[in-house]
Amino acid sequence: MNDAIRICLKEDVKGRLTLRNRIYKEFKERYDAVSCFPYSVAEVAWSIVKKHRRWQRRPVARKLMLKMDSASYSLNYGIISLPFKKGGRLLVPLQYGDYQSSILMDETLKRGSVTMTNTTIFIAFSKEIEVASPLKRVGIDLNEKSLVESDGTKLDLSKAARLHTEYGIRRRDFFARHHEDWKVNQKFASSRREKERVRQFLHKVAKQIVQKAKKNREGIILEELRGIRYKSRRGNGDGPDRRRRIALWPFRQLQNYIEYRARWEGIPVEYVSASWTSRTCHVCGFVNEKLKITDREWLCPCGAILDRDLNAAINVERRGTIPCLGEVRPGAQGTDEAVKGNPTTPVILRAEALKGSP
Ligand SMILES: [Zn+2]
Repeated sequence: MNDAIRICLKEDVKGRLTLRNRIYKEFKERYDAVSCFPYSVAEVAWSIVKKHRRWQRRPVARKLMLKMDSASYSLNYGIISLPFKKGGRLLVPLQYGDYQSSILMDETLKRGSVTMTNTTIFIAFSKEIEVASPLKRVGIDLNEKSLVESDGTKLDLSKAARLHTEYGIRRRDFFARHHEDWKVNQKFASSRREKERVRQFLHKVAKQIVQKAKKNREGIILEELRGIRYKSRRGNGDGPDRRRRIALWPFRQLQNYIEYRARWEGIPVEYVSASWTSRTCHVCGFVNEKLKITDREWLCPCGAILDRDLNAAINVERRGTIPCLGEVRPGAQGTDEAVKGNPTTPVILRAEALKGSP
């Protein structure tokens, strides 16, 4: 892959197919590989080059990995069979649990590409989905402590923040004790376990939300959170602690999980503008410009007593239901296609062969 990336940058290759044609013969001979290898190498190398050109990411494939499209491998009785050197095949027995096996047994799912790393095998599945027309919609307000739905459901999210604090303190203590040992420090500085625990927690929350939406046939409306970190920047009224918490809080990640699970179930997801959702009274439309971040509740001149988060969630729901209240954007590649007489959209689910998957 790194050879392909180098060629791509040196010769200023402009497209994935050009790269594929450029390396096909050379790589087949150099690595004595079957035909599908240069193909998948070109695909992965091209995506790395693209990220490098767009986001200035380092143009290097750091991890050993292999990707194959669905036509190039087979999967039978829990054994993946991949083409290897000429004439031979590489057989890899899979280890998996009940959840993964339910995915593998499900005949309505279409199997896509496989990606192998040192420790893990990812298989992508897709499914044709009919997007259900919802009976009603719920708006969701995300704040650092909780997730509040416009129907009053409230989920506590403080665990995510607590995990970050807990690991932060642990790390600080550890550095204090081992400040000379650079090697040990580096190892411990990795926040993989912390991220994994937060990720699992967020998946659990997303699952709960989507299950409820499925049961009640609700559509889900989320806020566009673009700029939330910018709003909480230095010198904008937030203290260092709050800024730290906001920077760590994976709002967008949670939204992604909700969206992807919802799409898997055929539940429509839409995004609306997040501005002023907690400051606007959902009863009369009055905008309270003096509302402070610490005010949990406020009294509107119209007489309504408003809970900050619930009011925001209701406003989000309104903006999604009544389009003239603001711009509505359909989730990633979802509902707009459904309107054009194409009721099905494929969704990709990754079945990860990991313990504790959803
Ligand atoms: Zn009011």
